[in-house]
Order: sequence, then C-alpha cells, then structure tokens
Amino acid sequence: MGSGKVTNWQGKHVTVAGLGVSGVPAAKVLHGLGALVTVVNDGDDDRARAQAAELQALGVKVRLGDGATLPEGTELIVTAPGWKPDKPLFAAAHEAGIEIWGDVELAWRLRGPDAAPWLAVTGTNGKTTTVQMLASILKTAGLRTAAVGNIGVSLLDAVLGDEQYDVLAVELSSYQLHWAPSLRAHSAAVLNLAPDHLDWHGSMEAYAADKGRIYEGNRVACVYNAADKATEDLVREADVEEGCRAVGFTLGTPAPSQLGVVEGILVDRAFVEDRQKNAQELAEVSDVNPPVPHNIANALAAAALARAYGVPPEAVRDGLRAFTPDAHRIAHVADVDGVAYVDDSKATNTHATEASLAAYESIVWIAGGLAKGATFDELVAKSAKRLRGAVLIGADRALIRDALARHAPEVPVVDLDRTDTGAMLAAVREARRLAVAGDTVLLAPACASMDMFANYNKRGEAFAEAVRELGAGA
Ligand code: ADP
Repeated sequence: MGSGKVTNWQGKHVTVAGLGVSGVPAAKVLHGLGALVTVVNDGDDDRARAQAAELQALGVKVRLGDGATLPEGTELIVTAPGWKPDKPLFAAAHEAGIEIWGDVELAWRLRGPDAAPWLAVTGTNGKTTTVQMLASILKTAGLRTAAVGNIGVSLLDAVLGDEQYDVLAVELSSYQLHWAPSLRAHSAAVLNLAPDHLDWHGSMEAYAADKGRIYEGNRVACVYNAADKATEDLVREADVEEGCRAVGFTLGTPAPSQLGVVEGILVDRAFVEDRQKNAQELAEVSDVNPPVPHNIANALAAAALARAYGVPPEAVRDGLRAFTPDAHRIAHVADVDGVAYVDDSKATNTHATEASLAAYESIVWIAGGLAKGATFDELVAKSAKRLRGAVLIGADRALIRDALARHAPEVPVVDLDRTDTGAMLAAVREARRLAVAGDTVLLAPACASMDMFANYNKRGEAFAEAVRELGAGA
C-alpha cells in the first residue's frame, strides 16, 4: 500500500481485525469506498452477532470466533488498536508482506487534501485532561476544533464527517501509535512515561518506542516533560521536519525554549521573541482546574501545543478558565466535618496515584482493586509522609498492605476483607474514623476496578454516594 494516500479502494481485499468501537465504523467506511471487506473477530457472543448482522446486511463478510486465520487474498489489515502485536494473524500478515494499519492510521490515510492538522497528545497519564484543555484553548481562540481519538470520539468521524475543522486535538494511546506508522502531527506532546501495558508491548523499551512515534515527522514542536527525561530522550530520537523545535514544560522556572511557572504564573519562554531575555505571561496557576501539580503540568503541555499552533496568550488563559475536568479525576465531592473527600477513581495505576497523593498534605488513602501486575513499594515509600491512614479494598489489597508494612509501618491501615460493592460505604466510614479536620480522604486506588465495579466510573460514583450518606449522618 506504500506510505502515501490510497486513492482507489475499489476491489481491494481488506481484512478488518476486531469488531467493536473501531472495527465496525472502519468496515463501513472501507466498504463504502468499494473495498471488499472481511471482518474477523475472536469472540462470538450476542453483541458480536448483532454487530455482524448489521455489517452483513451491507454486504460485508464477517467471520466470528476466528480471529487467527488470515482470509485468502488479504491485501491490507486494519486492526482494532487493542489487538496484541504477537497475534498469529499478524505473524501470517508479516510473512506475506501485508501491511497492518490501526484505526488512527486509517483515518490519517483517508483525510482529505485540506485536512485539519493534528495536535497530538500521549503519555501514561493525563492524556484526556490535556487534550480537553487544549481543545478548550483552541475553541477560545475562535478555531473550529474537537477533542478526538482515544477520548471516545472517533478520528474516522472527525476526518470524514461533514463538520469542518481548522485543527484537531488528538489523544493517542500507545496501542494506537503502535499501529500508526505514517502519522505526522503538526506538533505533539508526550506527557510522561511510566511502566504500563507492558504485557501488551512486551517491554518498557517497546512501550516507550511506541509512544515516541508521536514525534515522528512533527513540523513545529515536539513538547516534552522536563521532569521526565525519558520523554526528552524520545524527542532526541525522533526524525522531525527541518525547523521543528523541542519545547519543554516544567513546574519550575523555565529555561529558554520551555514553558514553566514563575511565582504562581504560567509563563512561555519558547514561543516569544528573544527567548533568552523574554517570557510571556499566559495564565495564573489558579486558572487551572484543579490547580494541583500534575494538572498544572497538563495545562503547560496543552498551552505549549496551542502556542505552537499560534494561539495568543489570552486564549490560553481563557481556555484554561473555561475547562472543567471529566468526572472522577481529582473531583472534590464534599467536605464533611472539615475533611475533604476527593474522588480520583481514574487513578488506576501507581504513576497516577503518586501524582494524586502528591497533591495533598495529609491524606487518608482509599486504595486497592486489581493490581495488573504492579508493585507498590516505590509509591508507598514516596508518599508515606503524607498518609494519615489507609483503607484497603479489593482483590489485590494485600500487595498494598505489605508495601505499607514495609515502608510506612507507623501508618494505621484498615484492611477491609470485602470485595462486594457495599464495601465502599464501609471504606468511607473507616476513612472518616481515621481522618481529622483539615485532612483529605482520597480515593486514588492505584488499581483497576473490575474486581468490584463495572468500571472506574461506577467505583467513583459509589464513593461519592457513600460520602453523601456520610454527610447525611449515615
Ligand atoms: P489518561 O487519559 O492518560 O488516562 P486522564 O486525564 O484521564 O489521563 O487522567 C487519569 C488519571 O491520571 C487522573 O485521575 C490523575 O490521577 C492522573 N493524572 C492526570 N494527569 C497526570 C499527570 N500529568 N501525571 C501523572 N498523573 C496524572
């Protein structure tokens, strides 16, 4: 298929790997372009059958219960981003010299000649927040834009829909980047890099390399986190367009070519004239919602991308002011008896939880769930001094309990031997018992939720509900 645009899809044999959020729209679009599409899917459940029926009615072939065999005549595979690279289907494709594209690659290849450039964001944590902040800033600047990609809004829709955009704020996961070899963003940011999804990528090096693809071919700026050397290393390794700049963000005073913070002010020392001597004020720390360190870093990254696109300083400030975070991300639920209750149910890994715990001085920490292979020693050792107490829930709580025993033996721990949904109310009650006025009770589980809840939203809702009951005197 080469690296350029495919102009004639008529009669091309394309295999779409995986039904679901990306597979169904991809199959429809390709079919509409005249390709001969076969969808292969591992599962064969009711949902898959319903999706298959819908596609078959259009004339798309679907094979349920067999995602391993390469259909005869396949010229291209378009895969769901989550499919692991070591799948037998891909081994067969490599052997036959067949290209594999993900949903992002497909969107990139199908966009029109005057398509909106992409400002792209990846990282282990903070992607959604940063992309939403960026979209808010761009909108405030009067640009037609949307937050799209891994955030739940399909890039295919954004690229092929009727809506006209000037520029897109694109969230990309490491999986999507893995399968997007020819993507070339206007500018891109890697927010941070911590071990995550290593079972999928195979190693930390492979994970980092996939994240680093976001910088390939950038035209204006590669934005990195000055406090996370791994992100800067990725910029150094990237092949970019002539004149593209490396721009750092820091919570400290910015060096030339960085954005940073000086006395409570977010300042730009990258996109200004004479950056050796000058800095441009962008916004106040209090304009960032919530103004906790990791979120200020997100705001700086969003600001850097917006500035790379030429957005004026006032739009950065007003766009940040207009931004409200999604639910369950450091959401202040209520104050009860002088204790603040904060829901950061989205903190599903230790890196996110470390940032969350760093945001408060004295914390009763509610944690636990499915550890996904994580270890907790470093997190607990770094955060021990802030812990008033800990309440543990969920399947893998013993891992956290042991880390607390090793690195914070003086911190009182309540180990709730329960994984039923009602355990959250018990956990909040225990947390209240441990907390004193001025403390923060923080749900930042460092774990996935699926042992007790359908997802992190439900876990956060259960927490908020429990806090409300507590406030009502439960
Ligand atoms: P993502 O889309 O990468 O999952 P979100 O913006 O949804 O990121 O935030 C997920 C969680 O990660 C939040 O609940 C918060 O605890 C944590 N987080 C957000 N930004 C950062 C950051 N810059 N560094 C570390 N943790 C962060």
